[in-house]
Amino acid sequence: MFNRRLFLCSVLIISLFSFSATALAGQGKAQVNQFRQLYQELPTPNAYRTASGAPGPQYWQQRADYDMSVELDEKNQRIYGIETITYFNNSPDTLTYLWLQLDQNIRTKDSLSRIASSGRISHPTSFRFLERIHSGFDGGFKIEYVKDNKDRDLHYTVVDTMMRVDLPQALSPYSQYSFQIKWWYNINDKSKIGGRSGFDYYEKDGNHVFAIAQFFPRMAVYNETEGWQHKQFLGSGEFALPFGNYRVRITIPSDHILGATGTLQNPDEVLTASQQARLEDARDSTENTVFIVTEDEAVQNEAEGADKTKTWIFEAENVRDFAFASSRKFIWDAMAVKFGERTVLAMSFYTKEGNPLWEKYSTKAVAHAIKVYSKFTFDYPYSKAISVLAGRGGGMEYPMIAFNGGKTEPDGTYSEGLKYSLIGVVIHEFGHNFFPMIVNSDERQWAWMDEGLNTFVEYLAEQEWEREFEEGNGTAYSMIEYMKGDKKYMSPIMTAPDADLHVGSNAYAKTAAGLNILRETIMGRELFDFAFKEYAQRWKFKHPTPADFFRTLEDASGLDLDWFWRGWFFGTDHVDLAIDNVKWCKVNTMEPALAKAIDYEKKNRNRKHYISNIRNKKDIEKTALEKDKSLSDFYDEHDPLEVTPLDEKQYKKYLESLSEEEKQLLQAGYNYYEVSLLNNGGMVMPVILKFDYSDGSEEVKRIPAEIWRRYNDSVQKVFVTKKEVRQITLDPFLETADVDTRNNMWTLQEKPDYFKLKKFERPSEKNLMQKVKEMEEEKKKEKHDEKISLR
Ligand SMILES: [Zn+2]
Repeated sequence: MFNRRLFLCSVLIISLFSFSATALAGQGKAQVNQFRQLYQELPTPNAYRTASGAPGPQYWQQRADYDMSVELDEKNQRIYGIETITYFNNSPDTLTYLWLQLDQNIRTKDSLSRIASSGRISHPTSFRFLERIHSGFDGGFKIEYVKDNKDRDLHYTVVDTMMRVDLPQALSPYSQYSFQIKWWYNINDKSKIGGRSGFDYYEKDGNHVFAIAQFFPRMAVYNETEGWQHKQFLGSGEFALPFGNYRVRITIPSDHILGATGTLQNPDEVLTASQQARLEDARDSTENTVFIVTEDEAVQNEAEGADKTKTWIFEAENVRDFAFASSRKFIWDAMAVKFGERTVLAMSFYTKEGNPLWEKYSTKAVAHAIKVYSKFTFDYPYSKAISVLAGRGGGMEYPMIAFNGGKTEPDGTYSEGLKYSLIGVVIHEFGHNFFPMIVNSDERQWAWMDEGLNTFVEYLAEQEWEREFEEGNGTAYSMIEYMKGDKKYMSPIMTAPDADLHVGSNAYAKTAAGLNILRETIMGRELFDFAFKEYAQRWKFKHPTPADFFRTLEDASGLDLDWFWRGWFFGTDHVDLAIDNVKWCKVNTMEPALAKAIDYEKKNRNRKHYISNIRNKKDIEKTALEKDKSLSDFYDEHDPLEVTPLDEKQYKKYLESLSEEEKQLLQAGYNYYEVSLLNNGGMVMPVILKFDYSDGSEEVKRIPAEIWRRYNDSVQKVFVTKKEVRQITLDPFLETADVDTRNNMWTLQEKPDYFKLKKFERPSEKNLMQKVKEMEEEKKKEKHDEKISLR
């Protein structure tokens, strides 16, 4: 029973203790552990998508083939088309209707995007803003008909930017269905109405550059995660598209030069003999660009004009979209990138208004990007990659072709900023061939999966282009200002772009910076590059989801990155780690002279305080002791620092009690630094500490983020070194996006604190026999006490 009583007692003590601990915690912010696993946030793995992040054994995806004839009416800026879509239902589901995307409908007068747009009058307001409000532009698809392959009308319903086509008979699994759509629309003037595609009008010579995309009704994605992906096109969220094969006939004015997705099928009919010969030369030119159409030829061409037309025929296999650019103003150059026997042509189509910048950089930047992206993912599989000068700035990407802004000044000069933004945008828009054109993610929902991954590889390509390439998006450091921002207006990266106020900062910059932090700081280049490549290879020509990316990076690297995805992708906390305190400690060896000096110092420290040291010296003329020498005894006269034979004897005894290993530890003379760290921002990160030693040398120690796994807010760690530390700096290379570096530095105190070493032996638990014996002795004692009290 005695034993039980003791047990109860300790329970009481423990519960009292834990109660007070809970009460304390209640005063602060509740800790929702950053290291709890990501389970609720990710879909359950299944036969379509495995827990490792790879396509599963029953993975399937739909396919849509297009056979199209398109005519460009330059005079009226219109485009007409007839398309036959063959839809392959590779799903195990029976489909009673199909959904198509009518992206042009964003420009109808009553589109959801226009009606639901918000806006305010700023001071001053631009003409462009008012022009857009007043615009009477008659945009959007004019659907003339939707017919089946027996020429029978199909019932269809347009829902803003989507169209449902009802099937007369349900489309059973693993079967296909062909139908035809006839349409036309007015092409938008990009400078007035805006848009990813449209035309640029050159007033001086009265010519157009047509950059045509999202120009035909396109199949929506149907898959096992979304069903039909028919979230409306509101402007920010881009596209989700199935793969397929294309055959496209494009009729344009006969003096136009045209660049498009796919391989030109009839060069003899649309190119001159010399143009064809030059194109052949370009296929052998891996160092320099070759002109297919020179600037002089283009200038001559743009002055003439033609009434006749030509039809260019293109075929493309396994692409998710099709776009083209057409103008009589185009200069055209190309060069080759070799993958073994295979040749990829890097090409540019641009007007003289882009020179000399474009002829110098555009095609070479494409060729450079082809090589760097291939290194980090997989060999670029298509036969060509085109950069087209279209628009004032920015860029837009399609399979094998991208529209990039960047005109020079009329006198042929250009700013340094324009140079780097052109090289950057050419690399970036080419890079979209990998993400999302081939690694075909859903842009409408997850802008970061293409923009972020692409901005990250763009950063790598830019670093390989020029050592001091102007750093834009992509570094941790570049995120600091954004991450400091008001959390009220911030969304996690895992937010659909149309609902995100900061798509640029989140989808592009924060994602790219996060990947850079993973590569440089958390995973290391070797593990990261392997895992990133694995993701690209697993999902090329497939449709990955966010979970597939998160899982693959963990699966291939052997690292648990849940904390990182949670903090960086699912959260808005910023990084602000701080050094709260550093204690410098040394071992008190108990060697008498040192031990006495330490004791004396400790005692004296108390005497040094203000009252006894300064005020009393002034106010008390003489103490009793000073007046009366007879009050003095041994303690006043003896030297506290004197080492006596007794001290020596005790020290010797102490040493004898130690093992050889213990003696070594005692006398090695190490410096111990107890570093206290705070996590003020909320987002945990690896702790990178630079130690500056007093001998002038330095050392960097890297501690993984798991140091925070139990205590997310504050943690301590002891560092041991032979050298003395002068200063400690946290995140010395600014690689974690720490928003406040003022609390990242600590200068060491002058003297160390000494600590004693003692032998620590855990008292062994009493065995039952001992306890019974004790109990009996206790009883005996009680009886004895009784007897005494009876007396
Ligand atoms: Zn982009």
